[in-house]
Amino acid sequence: MSKTEPNRPPEADVAIVGGGTAGLALAAELKRSGVGRVVVLEREKAAGGIPRHCGHYPFGLWEYQRLLKGPEYAARNVETAQALGVEIRTQTTVTQLHPGGRLSLSTPDGLQDLRASRVVLCTGVRESSRPQRFIGGDRPLGVMTTGALQSLVFLNHMRPFSKPVILGSELVSFSAIDTCRHLGIRPVAMVEELDRIVTHKALQPYLKVRGVPLFTGIGQPRIIGAQHVEALEFTDATGDHQRIETDGIIISGQFRPEAALLYNSHLEVDPGSGGPVIDQFGQCTDPAFYSAGNLLRPAETSGWCWREGVAAAKRIAQDLNSPGHEVKGTIRLTTRDPALKFVLPQRLCLTERPGGMKKMQIGLRTPANGTLRAMVGEKCIWSSRINSRPVRRIQRSLAGLLGVGAGADIRLEFKPET
Ligand SMILES: Cc1cc2nc3c(=O)[nH]c(=O)nc-3n(C[C@H](O)[C@H](O)[C@H](O)COP(=O)(O)OP(=O)(O)OC[C@H]3O[C@@H](n4cnc5c(N)ncnc54)[C@H](O)[C@@H]3O)c2cc1C
Repeated sequence: MSKTEPNRPPEADVAIVGGGTAGLALAAELKRSGVGRVVVLEREKAAGGIPRHCGHYPFGLWEYQRLLKGPEYAARNVETAQALGVEIRTQTTVTQLHPGGRLSLSTPDGLQDLRASRVVLCTGVRESSRPQRFIGGDRPLGVMTTGALQSLVFLNHMRPFSKPVILGSELVSFSAIDTCRHLGIRPVAMVEELDRIVTHKALQPYLKVRGVPLFTGIGQPRIIGAQHVEALEFTDATGDHQRIETDGIIISGQFRPEAALLYNSHLEVDPGSGGPVIDQFGQCTDPAFYSAGNLLRPAETSGWCWREGVAAAKRIAQDLNSPGHEVKGTIRLTTRDPALKFVLPQRLCLTERPGGMKKMQIGLRTPANGTLRAMVGEKCIWSSRINSRPVRRIQRSLAGLLGVGAGADIRLEFKPET
């Protein structure tokens, strides 16, 4: 049973769902901007988010002008927010979002409600699981994501295997090598379905340094093992069958927003980004809700999410201090192209309100060399050259899109170079 009635006034000026990098940076900046009661709701035993279990460098250069490991950085973010008067409630899971800024919470004291003038969703990302990646074979013990491995190693001090294979080649897959090193473990291979590593090519020599063989262009990975993992089988780039004896599989990368709360809510979700539909102020389709950090899109670095949290806090403080800017209309921004994964923000408000994002963020599904075009019907209203790969940061100015007029539906397309 809820402990508050629906019509009671808000108990918090701002409630932040998720005490990771973005949520804590945002909370601290709200206090610096003079906002009254700021509450961070975090489901884990301690706030700090993903960096809590990233036991490696480099964190904090931009934020603290220091080279920190993840756990030190997370602790600093918590201390900074608390010193400014942010209330952090741990072991508190938000289970439901309600219109107008009401939240259902599961807490150690039972179910509760919280009402806030503004709610900010900062629940981050997670890696795709084995079923989400359609990996076949047996179902033995010893298969886990990098995030789960990091939690076991750095938070629970466990050693789950001794000769794992890493599936994936994103930046986080390389950090899995470092997590293994922490335990004195050398992965026996890194395997990647694409024809080259997903992260920057400059990192490839690191595999040689660490003695980890790389297989790219692999197909049909199958996990073998009755009780515990015994092998990974796959076809290599030439189509030959391969079998690697191993006792663990680290399924790494292919991030997706931690959006379970959204799917069960009244807020609109963008199928491309997997996060909430927002406007250039970071406001969701219910104006009592904002969002920041990696929930918006998979996936950025901690430094980026920290800055995104600070920028969002300034917009929210401004909204609380002088609400009621007239919105003369909205423009819809979508991607309908196999090469494009998402565009952010997905809505542009035509308003005098200051401080909105100046740039859109674009995510690719496939490598793209050609022209990005913004189309209204059959008319191209803006274009820009692009030569990039998936999992890269791509930004373009929003200025060319705002003049198109209320009610327009802008479609972002990609035209390959011929
Ligand atoms: C496995 C992994 C490794 C990574 N390694 C790096 C790295 O080495 N360097 C780097 O820069 N970035 C890394 N990242 C990216 C990472 O997402 C960012 O560094 C940063 O943590 C994003 O901040 P955030 O606030 O958006 O999300 P997070 O830091 O993930 O914080 C989200 C918080 O929300 C909480 N939460 C979620 N749902 C609820 C709910 N319903 N109720 C209450 N609380 C909730 C979570 O417990 C979590 O604490 C990694 C990501 C993953 C998944």
